[in-house]
Amino acid sequence: MRVTMIGSGYVGLVSGTCLADFGHSVTCIDKDETRIADLQRGQLPIYEPGLDRLVSENVAAGRLGFSTDIASNVAQADVVFIAVGTPSRRGDGHADLSHVESAIREITPHLRKGAVVATKSTVPVGTGDRLEEIIREIRPEYPVFVVSNPEFLRQGAAIEDFSRPDRIVVGVADEAAKRIMADLYRPISINRAPVLFTSRRNAELIKYAGNAFLAMKITFINEMADLCESLGGDVQEVARGIGLDNRIGPKFLHAGPGYGGSCFPKDTLALMRTAQEFGSPMRLIETTIDINNTRKQALAQRVIQACGGTVAGKRIALLGLAFKPNTDDMREAPSIPLAEMLLAAGATVVATDPQAMRNAASLLPDLEFAPDPYRAVEDAEAVVLVTEWNEFRALNFAELAKRMRNPRFIDLRNVYGRAELSEYGFTYHGIGRAAPG
Ligand code: NAD
Repeated sequence: MRVTMIGSGYVGLVSGTCLADFGHSVTCIDKDETRIADLQRGQLPIYEPGLDRLVSENVAAGRLGFSTDIASNVAQADVVFIAVGTPSRRGDGHADLSHVESAIREITPHLRKGAVVATKSTVPVGTGDRLEEIIREIRPEYPVFVVSNPEFLRQGAAIEDFSRPDRIVVGVADEAAKRIMADLYRPISINRAPVLFTSRRNAELIKYAGNAFLAMKITFINEMADLCESLGGDVQEVARGIGLDNRIGPKFLHAGPGYGGSCFPKDTLALMRTAQEFGSPMRLIETTIDINNTRKQALAQRVIQACGGTVAGKRIALLGLAFKPNTDDMREAPSIPLAEMLLAAGATVVATDPQAMRNAASLLPDLEFAPDPYRAVEDAEAVVLVTEWNEFRALNFAELAKRMRNPRFIDLRNVYGRAELSEYGFTYHGIGRAAPG
C-alpha cells in the first residue's frame, strides 16, 4: 500500500519507518524543510534507539522516502496519516488543533478518491467529525474517509511498541475504510496484536482515557511514597506488594519525581478541559494534574533540605535531563523546574545526559554541562539522579565520593539503596523510603 505521513516527529517518523518495514511504500512529509533535508541526508532529527538503522535499511530498500511535497505524495496515497503535534493551547489547556486543521486543509485538494485520512495525533473527541466537515467544505461530496487511529508507542521503546503493540485501535464507520486499515496492519495483526475496531469517538476517547489512567497510577504511587516518608515505610515494598496482584499489575508503580513528557501532562489537561466543557468534570484527573504539578515544583526543595537548608553558592550535579531514559525529549521534563529553582536559589547546577543536553541547553541557558557523571560532580555538594539512564545504573561511588565536596546522593528514581551508598560515605535520600530510626 502507499502511505503518506504528515508530520515527521517522534510519532510520524517511527510509524512511517515501521510501516515501510512491514513492506508498505511510505513517504514522510514535514513542513520543516531543514528536518526533511537532514532526513534525506540520513541525519535523524530525534534520538530513538534503533531508528537510524531501520530508517537507512528501508530507504535503501526503496520503501521509505522524505519530502516536503504534499501534492504529489498525497495524490498517490491509499492512506494519509496525520501525525502533527497537538500541544496544550496557551491559556486554557485545550489541545491546540491548529496544526491538525492546517494539515487537513493542505492535503484535502490532493486526496485521491477512496483514500483514508487517519489521525494518529492525539485529538479530542469530535475532532474526526470536524476534519470531515473541513474536507466537505473544500470538496463537497468527494468520497474520502476520516478514521481515528491513535498511537500508543512510548518514546525510548517506540519501534518495539509500534511493531508489537498490545492492540491497535481504529475508529471507523465505513466498511471500505475498515478493510483498508485492516490490510495496512495485517503484517502485525496476523501475529498477535488485536485490532479493535470501534467508533471514531470511542477511539479518540480511548487514547485520552489510557494516558489519564496511567498518569493517575503514577500519581497514586507518588502520594503513597510521600506517606511512606512520613510514617516510615518503603514505597518499593508497597509497590511490589500491590503490583503482584493481577488486578493492579506492577507497571507504572515506580515512585519518582512526577510524570513529564510530551503526552501525559498535555493529554490529562486536554481531557480535563473536554470533561468540564461537556458538563461532566473528571475530579480524579483534575486532582492528578494538581498533585503532579505540585510535586514537580517541590523537587528543588528536597535537594535544598538535603543540603542543610540552602544551596546558595553550592554546586549541584544533575544526572539525567530527558523526561525519561532513551530519548532526547525535554518536553515537560521534571529536570526543568528542578534546575530552574535550584538556579534561582543561588546554586551552580551542572548536568549531564547521554542525549538531551543539546535540547536542554536551549531551555536552560544558565545550566552548565559535563560530559559524564564524574566530571559533573566535581566539587558538588549533592548529586541528584533525575533520569534513570542505564549509564547511571552502575556508578563508581568511590570515584564520585572522591570528587565531591560533600557526598550526598538524592535518588529521584530509587535506583540505589541507602545501605549500598553509605558504604562509600554518602548520605542517601530516596523517594518514599524513610531513613531508619
Ligand atoms: P513532534 O512535535 O515530535 O512532531 C510533529 C511534527 O509535525 C513536527 O516535525 C512538525 O514540524 C510537523 N508538522 C506540524 N504541522 C505540519 C504540517 N501542517 N505539515 C507537515 N508537518 C507538520 O510531535 P510527536 O511527539 O511526534 O507527536 C505527534 C502527535 O502524536 C501528538 O498529537 C502527540 O500527542 C501524539 N502522540 C505522541 C506520542 C509520543 O510519545 N511522542 C505518543 C503517542 C501519541
